[in-house]
Amino acid sequence: MILNYRQAPKLLDWRANVNVLTEQVISCPYCGESIDVLINAEDEAEQYIEDCQVCCRPITFVLSRDDNGDLSVAVHDENDSF
Ligand SMILES: [Zn+2]
Repeated sequence: MILNYRQAPKLLDWRANVNVLTEQVISCPYCGESIDVLINAEDEAEQYIEDCQVCCRPITFVLSRDDNGDLSVAVHDENDSF
């Protein structure tokens, strides 16, 4: 497989993120507190629930990877339709 000039750096970036836990700060949808979360780079397009460290209510995390290959996380409360 031959990589062209544009593809190569992206692929290298992506590989560098494999097996790496990315720390992101989100705001709790219930209490609004800022919470550090660790995201496993392999969990792309995953959804999971974790209790808020502050108010202990269940937060739904939805992971996605954008066009640049960066992992991002969205949070929803349990009553959100998404
Ligand atoms: Zn909270």
